[in-house]
This record gives sequence, C-alpha cells and structure tokens, in this order.
Amino acid sequence: MNANILQTPIDYLKGVGPNRADLLRKELGIHTYQDLLNLFPNRYLDKTRFYKINELQRNSAEVQVVGKITHIRSVEQKRGKRLVANFIDDTGKMELVWFRGQKWIRENLKINTPYVIFGKTNWFNGLFSMPHPEMEPVEEYKKQLRTAMQPIYSSTEKLAKSGITNRVINKLMQQLFIETKGKFYDTLSEEITTELKLIPKAEAVFNIHFPQSQELLAKAQFRLKFEELFYIQLQLLIKNMLQKQKIKGFVFEEIGQNFSEFYKNHLPFELTGAQKRVIKEIRADLGSGAQMNRLLQGDVGSGKTIVALMSMFIALDNGFQACLMAPTEILAIQHYNDLVELCENLDTNIYLLTGSSKTKARREIHEKLENGEIDILIGTHALLEDKVKFKNLGLAVIDEQHRFGVAQRAKLWRKNQVPPHILVMTATPIPRTLAMSLYGDLDISVIDELPPGRKPIKTVHRYDSNRLKVFAFIKDEIKKGRQVYIVYPLIQESEKMDYKDLMDGYESIAREFPDQQISIVHGQMKSDAKDYEMDRFVRGETQIMVATTVIEVGVNVPNASVMIIESAERFGLSQLHQLRGRVGRGAEQSFCILMTGHKLSNDSKIRLETMTATNDGFEIAEVDLKLRGPGDIMGTQQSGVLNLKIADIVKDNQILKSARYHAMKILKEDPNLSMEKNKVLRFTYSQVAKHKNIWNYIS
Ligand code: ADP
Ligand code: MG
Repeated sequence: MNANILQTPIDYLKGVGPNRADLLRKELGIHTYQDLLNLFPNRYLDKTRFYKINELQRNSAEVQVVGKITHIRSVEQKRGKRLVANFIDDTGKMELVWFRGQKWIRENLKINTPYVIFGKTNWFNGLFSMPHPEMEPVEEYKKQLRTAMQPIYSSTEKLAKSGITNRVINKLMQQLFIETKGKFYDTLSEEITTELKLIPKAEAVFNIHFPQSQELLAKAQFRLKFEELFYIQLQLLIKNMLQKQKIKGFVFEEIGQNFSEFYKNHLPFELTGAQKRVIKEIRADLGSGAQMNRLLQGDVGSGKTIVALMSMFIALDNGFQACLMAPTEILAIQHYNDLVELCENLDTNIYLLTGSSKTKARREIHEKLENGEIDILIGTHALLEDKVKFKNLGLAVIDEQHRFGVAQRAKLWRKNQVPPHILVMTATPIPRTLAMSLYGDLDISVIDELPPGRKPIKTVHRYDSNRLKVFAFIKDEIKKGRQVYIVYPLIQESEKMDYKDLMDGYESIAREFPDQQISIVHGQMKSDAKDYEMDRFVRGETQIMVATTVIEVGVNVPNASVMIIESAERFGLSQLHQLRGRVGRGAEQSFCILMTGHKLSNDSKIRLETMTATNDGFEIAEVDLKLRGPGDIMGTQQSGVLNLKIADIVKDNQILKSARYHAMKILKEDPNLSMEKNKVLRFTYSQVAKHKNIWNYIS
C-alpha cells in the first residue's frame, strides 16, 4: 500500500470542501482518506428491483420507484409545515413528504422530470407516501457507478441536515476509489489467503462499498472480518508471548513446608479433579521463570478459594509474601475469616487491610508488611495504596476480576522489583469466544467441576401474586433449620425507590415472620453496621437476610439454602446466577425463587427461563452474551472488542476461532514472523502495533 495517499487529509478529496471536511471530522471522526475507506456500510439495500406504484404493499421494506413529481405544496401542521409532492408513474399516484430541509428541496426538485426515488413507504388515507425519499434524476442515475447492492452508511442527523446524505458519502467513496486505484497492497500472507480462499484486499475493500453481487459482498465481509479478528488475535498472542519471554518472574521451585503440611494434614476435604489440575497448572507457571498472568474461571461454589490459598503457600514456601484482593469489604472479611480458619494449625501470619482499618492497625500492618512478618495480606483496594509496601511480594491474587480494571492489575505489578505473579479469579464465567478476545493476554484455567455431594439448586419462577405460598415455603425451610436470603434490586437511577422497596419488603417480612430474627444489609449502611448484620447471619443468629445486591459477591453461608430474588426481571442474567450461587453451598437441597410481576419483557422471559433451565454458568454466560452483546459484559470496555469495525464477537464466533487458530499456527512455526512468507504479516503487524487501532492501518 502507498501509505501516503491513504493518509491524505480528507479535505483534499475532490468533492470535500472545508465545510464538509469539518463535518466529516466532527461527526464521523473521518480525518483521512483511510478513515473514509474504513467507514463500512451498516447495511445494504437491494436496488435491483423497481416497483410500480400499484405494486406497493403496506408495511413493505424500502422500495425503489421511477416516476415524476407533478405538484409540490406546503401543508400547515400542528408545528410548522410539511412539504408534500404528488408523485406519479403510469400505474398510479403517491406522495413524497418532507419535514426538514423544505426550502432546499423546493428550490432544487424539478417538476415533471423523471426521478428514481427510494425509501420506506407509509400507508395513509388510501394513499402511499414516502417521507424523505432518496431521489435522483433518472439521467444522473444512469451515469452512476451502479451496483446491485446499495451500501447504507451510518450517518448522523446533523450530517443529513447539512446535506451529507448517504448519496453524498457514496459519491465521495467513488471519488476515493478513483484517486486510490491500484494503491492497495495485500495485508494477509499468501498462505492464509490461499488456505482460506480469501479474495484480495483491494477486491474486498471495493466490494464492501460497491458490492458487485451478493456473493462478492459475502466474500468481502468474510475477508475483512477475518483480517480484523486475525490481527487482534495476533496482537494478543504476541503480547502473551513477549510477557513470557521478557517479563521475568520469580521462580518458585520449592514445594515446601507450608504447602505439604497443609496438603497432608489440614486439607478439610479431598480436592476435586479440576482443583488439582488447576493447582498443577499454577505450579507449573510459578516454576517456569516467567511471570504468571493467569485467569482462573470457576463457577460460584466451585472452590476457588482453596486454590488461591495453596498457590499462596507456594509463594510462602519460596520465601515470598502473598496478597489477596477482593472487590468489597464484606468479601475481604469473609476471605480473611476463611483463610484464618483453614490455616488454624499452621503458623501462617494473615492480616486484613481495608478502607475501614483504623490508623493504628494500618500502621502496624505497614510495618509488619515491610519487615516480612506478614505472610498473607488480604484486603480491598486499600492494598493498592502506595503506602502499602511489601518486603517481598511474590504472588497477588485478585478475586472477582471484573470489578477491577487493568490499571489496578498494573498497580499490583509494581509492588515488587520484579512483578509478582498474578492470579485473577472470576466467578463470572466468560464465554470462551469472548474470553479469547478479552483475555487473550492471560492464560486461562477453568474449574469445571463442583465439589461432590452438591445437589443442583432448584430454581423456580413465581409471580408476586403467589407470595403467600412462597412465605409458607420459607417458613417450612426455616423450621428445618435453614436460613434464607431475600434480595432486592438496587440500581443507581432509582436508589430512593429501591430503598423504599427494600424497607417495605423488610417490614412485611418482619410482620410475616414475627418469631424470626432478621438481618438487613444494604449499600447505604455504615460498614460496621453491615458487618454486624452479616455476622449475625453467618453465625446463624438470624434466619433471614434481607439485602440488596451487596451480598452478590462471594458471601459464603453454607446453611443458607433459600434465595428469594425480588423483582427478578430487573436483574441481568449473570447477576441472577451470582446471587443464586450464594445458596447450594452446603449439603442440603437448595432453592432459588425468582419473584416477578406479570408484566415481563421478552428478554426478561428468556432470562427467567434460562435460570430455571440450567445451573451451568457457562451456558448462562452464552445466553447473556447473546442477549446483551459484548458491550455490557464487564471487562469488554477495556478490551478493544468494542472497537471492532466489522466483525461481531457474537455472530462471527466461527471466524474468530479460525482467526485465532491461524494466528497461533503461524506464531508456532514462526514466532518472530521472520520467515519470508510472513513478511506481509510482520509489516502489517508492526503498523498495527504502532497505530494501536488496526483499522488505522490495515485497509
Ligand atoms: P468459589 O469458587 O465460589 O470462591 P469457594 O472457594 O468459596 O467457592 O468454595 C465454596 C465452598 O465449597 C466452600 O465452603 C468450600 O469450603 C467448599 N469446597 C471447596 N472445595 C471443595 C472440595 N473439593 N470438596 C468439598 N468442599 C469444597
Ligand atoms: Mg469466591
């Protein structure tokens, strides 16, 4: 490619004056020829067919008609005026209507001149009308570079108002192709293009804008999607490789006292096969000499904590410290209590540091951390503060990754001269396809097996009108000695209303269960009050916990076997699944009851059905991804998958897999892309890496 010409400022393109250039820059972010080229159409219209007016159907899609205007008039309406034109062909009559830009249209449209019009029709008062049609005199229409499929570009209102319509963009695109003809070079190696039967780059780019046939359009899309995903995968894989080569990690060779003693004498249960496998994977990483960056995925209750602890023991055995960071104070405290209990008969020094640690305690911790008296530090974000200095941090475990950003991960890296090993644990299963794109730079371990003896949680959906039956059920369970969660939504926008719902709910439950002790926990409580209430529930002093989603993450009370979720339609799937995961932790049969009103959207119905149908977090995650798209899934914001210009992470799943497969295959054979046949890849990759955004370069 001749980089120069594609880097030409958009102002230089024939047909783009200073005004248009400004608009293109401001509204569409188009600064250069290349940017324009990368403005891919949103969709295509099939303009192969012309309709007669008497063939038009109500509710039809966009149609193309040839005819002429016989008369134009202004019609007063409630607010302002609309412009209406009579439009006829040899079979009938219809109307064209404009609400905006009337003056320009009046001055420019010609009466009794044949036009090709295109747009959606409405049926009103026995007549078809077409608001804001695209129009072109038949004479002009014949001169244009014609394609069967008409590209439609995303446009903004402002652009359309200022005369940069789809047609204008189309014309600019034609001009662009004229000026850049023969200046494209291919961006994928011959090996790949041959193997995947991809069309050449120039042909793909041309057909994406001017499809010569359905078939060529499909090929163009495939090629560009593949390319986009391929370079993302290549980047992720290379980053991962470099991390392993360059970022030296501490070598933990010893499996020593702590690990062995715990494993032999204090392990409270037999590890599951999956836990053993993951610990092995982590051990291998820790001994490899490279810094570990591993993501541990495991559904709620799959037993990640013990894996974290045993990994930390490996660090301690090699003379290092470890830390564990949790997203909330409640969770940090819970981890602390769990680990202290697990280490009861060992002389491991475990400390807790959170935002509410008192100054004195803090000072003590800072000191002991620096002189190495603390082995394991557990806490919240407070761990990230600069004042928190370790003598020798060897392993940092982050629980519930999606709550923390990349920046925070990076902060942990700097807690030692050589970056400590990082283990990120998440209970939100991420669909494999997404994980590949989000965390391509992390290695992934999966705990795909629950500890034995767990009965699957029975999940049902009940309408609010059946509340009394639900209350009766709760009473029975409490009689059997179980504990119950009742969760209310709490979302930012209607905090007050939610708070009221929660309080109303609490009161009605207090009335319904006069003999029971009830805890209440919500986000607006002071943290000591929260802890106090949580504690009472954990110790079994209260039977019912009324709460907002603050209990979502990680809380572990094995005796709690009923989870009632109020207004369940207001929760997302992954959140519902997380909440459900609070029960089913003991040996008893557990239940999850999703309460809703009768009015439910389609998506809500799918969510509820999914929840009642399966306990499998990965299955749920796939549905979630399909419902919400990647944009709303935590973590995607930072990952770049949202910046995809043409591929769709959900729909183009197969292409993504293929792109990853090929990227891996190539790197395996030629890690530095130094072979002659991969020259194109190396060059393009270097440009991609330099420009950060692949589409700044690869077209
Ligand atoms: P999560 O993966 O959600 O963090 P936890 O580590 O909190 O799960 O474990 C959930 C519960 O399962 C805890 O009570 C823990 O003690 C128990 N557990 C973990 N592993 C096993 C096992 N292999 N066998 C029996 N119980 C286990
Ligand atoms: Mg956990």
